[in-house]
Amino acid sequence: MQVPLLDLKQQHARLREELRAGVDRILDSQQFVLGEEVRLLEEELARYSTARHAVGCASGSDALLLALMALDIKAGDEVITTPFSFFATASAIARTGATPVFIDIEPRTYNLDPSLVEAAITTRTRAIMPVHLYGQCADMDALSEVAARHDLPVIEDAAQAIGAEDGGRRAGSLGRIGCFSFYPTKNLGAAGDAGLLTTGDDALAERLRRLRVHGGATEYLHTEIGINSRLDALQAAVLRVKLPHLDGWSQARRERAETYSLLLTNAHLRFNLRAPFIRENVRHIFHQYVVRVPEHRDALVEHLRAHGVGVKIYYPVPLHMQECFRYLGYREGALPEAERAARETLALPIYPELRLEQQQYVVDTLGRFQP
Ligand SMILES: *Cc1c(COP(=O)(O)O)cnc(C)c1O
Repeated sequence: MQVPLLDLKQQHARLREELRAGVDRILDSQQFVLGEEVRLLEEELARYSTARHAVGCASGSDALLLALMALDIKAGDEVITTPFSFFATASAIARTGATPVFIDIEPRTYNLDPSLVEAAITTRTRAIMPVHLYGQCADMDALSEVAARHDLPVIEDAAQAIGAEDGGRRAGSLGRIGCFSFYPTKNLGAAGDAGLLTTGDDALAERLRRLRVHGGATEYLHTEIGINSRLDALQAAVLRVKLPHLDGWSQARRERAETYSLLLTNAHLRFNLRAPFIRENVRHIFHQYVVRVPEHRDALVEHLRAHGVGVKIYYPVPLHMQECFRYLGYREGALPEAERAARETLALPIYPELRLEQQQYVVDTLGRFQP
């Protein structure tokens, strides 16, 4: 049996006709950049995220950069973030000229550990940027509390967490600005790159709308220097076809996560494997189903791949250990939980169309692993 890490073709097969109609509509309109289709998507996603405003842009990475730009973060400033995330979380901070300040993660959720934030705050700190990793919100109550005490904005990297909730509130409505990605493999995926920002702040929303079109208040009149990061109408049309299905897909992902956890409990593996930890009072959307294997992780990855199970490591090198961030001066061992997670975790296949017998095969294959 083959169990791919992700299979987007099944989703596409079900939506093919609707997607083609949407794409045709845009082709007929010859309106390809921003415009009515993007405006409608922004309205729908603002509602979905329970945020007052949504502003489309070209990618999740750009959303992070635009968020920092809109908050005037610049050289000499510091932004506190997690070392255990996709590269863009930290590179966006460095791109503004500011310094990413990495603090360690909470080992059960792999999210920024709020108890370590306060000690990292200096007179140069300008924002806190948690990531809702794998589809589970960072502890936003604790983070918001410390942020409020120091009058710092929280920027949510919600690229993996569209529709996730913390205490009944949606990702993207929990901080000053929320950043989303619609990279094709995300839970809501475009047919290429696309991204979006959410905010409850009218002035910030207006500024973001300017910054994404070169900082122009009106055409050819530039009040500040922005970037070119517009959302394509074709992507908006694709996303609008998919959005009504998103809650069903998230539900299917949660059910598959429960199934894995149940199968794993009954599997009596010959090695230590920890299923994902779900915090109380959250809605986890299981962008990834990540398990921790304290010993023999790499041998296990090879075994699974050799038997047709697609697995992946998110992320094998923590951000503070990346060569490009050597100038920041972190040493190995500086952030032990992130480094341990990079050594001990792996993601199993999860997607809404994953079948029970495939999940059973994944767990059986785990059961055949001889450490
Ligand atoms: C995917 C992702 C991004 C970047 O999004 P792109 O649309 O690929 O630019 C940023 N942060 C996290 C946590 C991501 O998973």
